[in-house]
Amino acid sequence: MSNEQLPKKIDPLKLINHEVSLTGTINLEDMTRLNACIEGGDPLVQADLSFYRDGQRFRVIEGSCSAKVSLVCQRCLEPTDVSLDAEFALAVVTDDEWAKKLPKRYDALILEESPILLAEVVEDELLLCLPSVPKHTHECDIANLDFENPKLETEAKPNPFEVLAELKKK
Ligand SMILES: [Zn+2]
Repeated sequence: MSNEQLPKKIDPLKLINHEVSLTGTINLEDMTRLNACIEGGDPLVQADLSFYRDGQRFRVIEGSCSAKVSLVCQRCLEPTDVSLDAEFALAVVTDDEWAKKLPKRYDALILEESPILLAEVVEDELLLCLPSVPKHTHECDIANLDFENPKLETEAKPNPFEVLAELKKK
């Protein structure tokens, strides 16, 4: 893995025409949508991308990316470190119609403008790997589950059904 900083903006069509491969890092802070979902994380996201045309002339961006982020464990409400690892194969198309015709092995990257932000492409893939219910992989620290510790009660989120009931009254 290279620690070289990848370019912020890329022109996918040009990279595909030149069959470029990129390996390096992207700043986590450039991924605002992902940042909104996490407590923090390793400031550098690793990414490895190959740009090429396949045998059927589809324009392809294939690669992998990985990030280490901190999420709130839904069992003990303490932070837990989670690795997000994604592998992807995107076909670059210019409109929705083409996106529908792609072979199943590809997801569409609809190019509306160029250059595009590389961080956003990788961020989309990382967002797809976020666990819906993050939990510590090992036993949670039992002290946090102690009944004498009032932390869970005071920090409990409002009951969604109560919130819903409130909304219905209005
Ligand atoms: Zn936990």
